[in-house]
Amino acid sequence: EIILAIETSCDETSAAVIQDGNHILSNIVSSQIESHKRFGGVVPEIASRHHVEQMTLIIEEALKEAKVGWKDLSAIAVTEGPGLVGALLVGVHAAKAIAFAHQLPLIGVHHIAGHIYANQLVTELKFPLLALVVSGGHTELVYMETQGQFEIIGETRDDAVGEAYDKVARTLGLPYPGGPHIDRLASMATESIDLPRAWLEENSFDFSFSGLKSAVINVVHNEKQKGNEVNHESVARGFQESVIDVLVTKTRKATEAYPIKQLLLAGGVAANKGLRSALEMQFKNSKVELIIPPLHLCTDNAAMIGAAASIKYQQGQFSDFALNGNPGLDLEEQSIKNKRLS
Ligand code: ATP
Ligand code: MG
Ligand code: FE
Repeated sequence: EIILAIETSCDETSAAVIQDGNHILSNIVSSQIESHKRFGGVVPEIASRHHVEQMTLIIEEALKEAKVGWKDLSAIAVTEGPGLVGALLVGVHAAKAIAFAHQLPLIGVHHIAGHIYANQLVTELKFPLLALVVSGGHTELVYMETQGQFEIIGETRDDAVGEAYDKVARTLGLPYPGGPHIDRLASMATESIDLPRAWLEENSFDFSFSGLKSAVINVVHNEKQKGNEVNHESVARGFQESVIDVLVTKTRKATEAYPIKQLLLAGGVAANKGLRSALEMQFKNSKVELIIPPLHLCTDNAAMIGAAASIKYQQGQFSDFALNGNPGLDLEEQSIKNKRLS
């Protein structure tokens, strides 16, 4: 089957054409980062306006690059949530208009299901599996017994990892989004400052990053107050070491607690070089197969939405024209629907 997928949940306008759930015919991503940079974060109104301006062009480009016409499409998929409501609505309305005009089935996709299914564009998924989702708004360990079934076994109780990266970067005066800058500084560091790790309860797979973020802000402010020069590279290294230590340790414990075949890395922070290599080291001689998507499939893109939509297409799970942008869409509820239908 051939699916046209649309993603507009945050600050990337993207359209992709995906064949049989794993073959990318095109994946066009237009980033708005330059427009949001001077505000130090994503401004929702500006994001929506950019999506409106870009949407038609990006869809046309995706079809052109894939060399397919409307008649070749089997369905149209779109991120229905979570995300910024105004941004989501642009994609959802575009998808509904196309579905109506070209009589195509419509498929609403959960954004995080998309991040996870980005891995299906890399290799065949084998269940049961575990996904470590690390992005701008989410930090979760997701257990999947089979296709389309999502169980969150651990999640952040406060900040998402990407959010912590961006706030620490802002404290160091680095531009938005800060993740890649911290990653680069950390790799250049010759030493690192000691920062706390939030392990929480003994057997918990939950995370917490706001204490670490505050610790960084305190160190930087205290040194400034004393008139000392703060070594940004050591701060970045110390912060990244704390994050990776907790993520990798908890993920390893989770892989021991669940009978899984694969571990998938997912979300924008999956682009982090330190995290990628720490996981590769940890699972080098493991029975668990580690899958890490290439960088361009880690951050927001429509190809991953098309990959996730392909499963729903095969399971006959379509949306009707009541489909709406839902900023609070629940990942686990997506699988309850699966169960009822199967
Ligand atoms: P969500 O997917 O939770 O809705 P989002 O879509 O805004 O949130 P993504 O686009 O998946 O988030 O990821 C963006 C986040 O990834 C930002 O916080 C950014 O700083 C972070 N990020 C990107 N590259 C890196 C990197 N190399 N190291 C650390 N963080 C990174
Ligand atoms: Mg983004
Ligand atoms: Fe995302």
